[in-house]
Amino acid sequence: MTVKLLATATATDKHLNITKDKEYSVFKITYEKLFSEGRITIINDNNELVRVSSYYFTFKEGWKALWFFSKFFKKVLDKSGFYCYNKAKKRRKEVKKMRICFDMDGTIANFYGVEGWLDSLMKEDSKPYAIAKPLVNMNSLARILNRLQREGHEIGIISWLSKNGTEGFNKEVTEVKKAWLKKHLRSVKFNFVTIVKYGTDKNIVNTNKEDILFDDEKGNRENWNGIAHNVENIIETLKRL
Ligand SMILES: [Mg+2]
Repeated sequence: MTVKLLATATATDKHLNITKDKEYSVFKITYEKLFSEGRITIINDNNELVRVSSYYFTFKEGWKALWFFSKFFKKVLDKSGFYCYNKAKKRRKEVKKMRICFDMDGTIANFYGVEGWLDSLMKEDSKPYAIAKPLVNMNSLARILNRLQREGHEIGIISWLSKNGTEGFNKEVTEVKKAWLKKHLRSVKFNFVTIVKYGTDKNIVNTNKEDILFDDEKGNRENWNGIAHNVENIIETLKRL
C-alpha cells in the first residue's frame, strides 16, 4: 500500500536544496518502511528518495494527512506525526542511555535571588526554597525532559540541604524542595529526587561517564565523573542531546 501526500518544501530545507515554497508533486509514503525502519520514507514522482526531516517539511494539507497517519499508525506516530522519525534517527545513532541530573539552588531555582535567604536559613525558615522563582522556562524544560525520558534516558535531581541544618529542618527542606518540583515541573516524573546533606559528593547518582550534571557550583562540576554543564543555556544544551 502506498499513501500519497502533497507536500511543500520550505526555504530552510538544506537536504533538498530547493527554493522557497516551490511546490513538489505528490510524494509517496510507504508504510511498510514506516514499520520496518520506524521512520517515514518519502520518494518523489521519479522514485527518487527524498530525505525527510520534521524541521524541514510542512504538509500542504498537513493536519488532514497527519490525522490520517495518526489514526492508522498511532502505535508508531505520536501527535506531532513526526516523533517516530526523530526517535528512529536517535536509535540509528545508537545513543547511549544516560542520566541527566540537575542541581536545584542556583541551577533551576533562583534560591539565591530570594531576598534574605541566608537570614531565613539561620532561623531555620524554609520559605526561600518554596518561593524561589524558576531560572529556566519550565514549560520548555518539561517538554524536553519528557522527550528524553521517552527515549530511555533517566532524569533526576541531586541537590544539597542547607549547611548545618538540624534533622528536623532537613526533613522540612526535603519536603519543600519536592513540593517545588511538583509545582514547577508537574508533568515530569523524575527517576530519582536525591536531596542530601550539604557537601555530599554528587557522584552518588552517577552511573557512567556519559551522565550529565547541570550545576552552578564549579566544585561539583569539576568533581563530576561525567559531563558537567554550568547553568547557562540549559535548554539549548538539552535540545542538542
Ligand atoms: Mg547549586
